[in-house]
Amino acid sequence: MSKIYNIVTHPAESLRKRSEEINIQDIRNPDFLVLFKDMKKTMLKKDGVGLAAPQIGKNIRLIIVNTYDGPTAMINPIINKKSWAKVIGEEGCISVPNTFGDVSRHKKIIYSYIDEKGRNKKLEAKDMEASIIQHEIDHLDGILFIDKAKNIKKA
Ligand SMILES: [Zn+2]
Repeated sequence: MSKIYNIVTHPAESLRKRSEEINIQDIRNPDFLVLFKDMKKTMLKKDGVGLAAPQIGKNIRLIIVNTYDGPTAMINPIINKKSWAKVIGEEGCISVPNTFGDVSRHKKIIYSYIDEKGRNKKLEAKDMEASIIQHEIDHLDGILFIDKAKNIKKA
């Protein structure tokens, strides 16, 4: 049985904690496979372009990003390199409903993570995709886009 998670909204404590690293042995556990699937489903259902585990109340370093290849689970993601150049884009977050703001992000990043099969990945992202990854990794450190946004608007 798959499920759609409830989204934790601001102000909630789980959105403000630093999330714990995932032990790689643990991802072989079938519960994790179910979690990956359900988080992807939840993200799509809520029309999100990304979803971080703290947003469903789990303080572990796991994000789902809707990449060009479709919803992708990224375990223990880190940013290895960031461009000096930045881009400003309008962001929102399903954990901060009906709120938008302009956030400055690194235009290009090199990032790495462990995929759901336990493989190490190192990739480059730019523009919108890079911004989404930065937004989601911020969630793992208890940071919300409203902490960084300018011109915050309520819809
Ligand atoms: Zn968010």
